Amino acid sequence: QKEQLEQYKDRDAVTCDGVRVALRANVGLLSDIEIAHRCGAEGVGLYRTEFPYMARTDFPDRESQYEIYRRVVESFEGQSVTIRTLDIGGDKMLSYFDAPSEENPFLGWRSVRVSLDHLDIFRTQIEAILMASTHGNVKLMFPMITNMDEIIRCKELVAEAKQKLLAEGWSVPDVPLGVMVEVPAAISLADYFAREVDFFALGTNDLVQYMLAADRGNSRIQHYYDSLHPAVLHAIAHMVDVAKRHKKELCICGEMASDPACFALLVGLGLREFSVSSPAILPLKALLSKLSSCELEKLGKVLLSEPHGRRIRERVENMISQAE
Ligand code: PEP
Ligand code: MG
Repeated sequence: QKEQLEQYKDRDAVTCDGVRVALRANVGLLSDIEIAHRCGAEGVGLYRTEFPYMARTDFPDRESQYEIYRRVVESFEGQSVTIRTLDIGGDKMLSYFDAPSEENPFLGWRSVRVSLDHLDIFRTQIEAILMASTHGNVKLMFPMITNMDEIIRCKELVAEAKQKLLAEGWSVPDVPLGVMVEVPAAISLADYFAREVDFFALGTNDLVQYMLAADRGNSRIQHYYDSLHPAVLHAIAHMVDVAKRHKKELCICGEMASDPACFALLVGLGLREFSVSSPAILPLKALLSKLSSCELEKLGKVLLSEPHGRRIRERVENMISQAE
């Protein structure tokens, strides 16, 4: 079976009726790079920068961040690398960082909120990312955005960082700026966000937990955490529509895209860019080659009026098993 999958490594990810999708990798550790290459990833759709911060005893300085980001960017020559700014809090904490203990960490001081409250740390990271962007095709992305002010402030900080680097003699290219869509408010405001950003990335790991009020890490209520819940699918379909109307890129980088049924339905809902953990890439390519985008789109339309998550899964799995 492994050899069978290997044949897909250097092939494009296409449906049997010729619709092409991009399959990029989610990476965190530097060791993920080699795995991503081995699995035929087309660049990096989500580089989680928490890991370089976690494996230390203090905040990394600009130069050491630059070196790490540069290695990631250079190893994907000719392909894009989407670097996400620090996303700590919630489930990811830094041992050396004095963070408050909170009753609801996932609803608390996490992600871009921490960055915007620690401008020294945030500025350093943005500068390091822009420096790395001189070595390849970098996109810069901000996590957990819930309102317009955050986007405006992040963009100001990028402009300031760029000015600073110019004064230091760096010639920084125009880096596309994007936001993660991972809270319901971002879905509602997506039409407005679209005027401010170059691209969107759907972070369904968080989006599902925030839409369904179901902790992503709590096994007792796991059955409530349903990525195929109709409300989630409606939100995703809305984002596809917004991205199309505003001609903005839309990638999905949450884990749900690695699940064959979810992946097939996402293609049916019109998504064309995916970022998944590397081991999922070849199986998804193999699956895609057996599916027709026309059929998937028809099914996608029908299932947008199906109110039961369970039936949605049954219908998609049925289509997959018939194709195999
Ligand atoms: C997500 O929330 O879907 C996501 C990709 O980010 P993380 O899993 O790092 O929170
Ligand atoms: Mg997230």
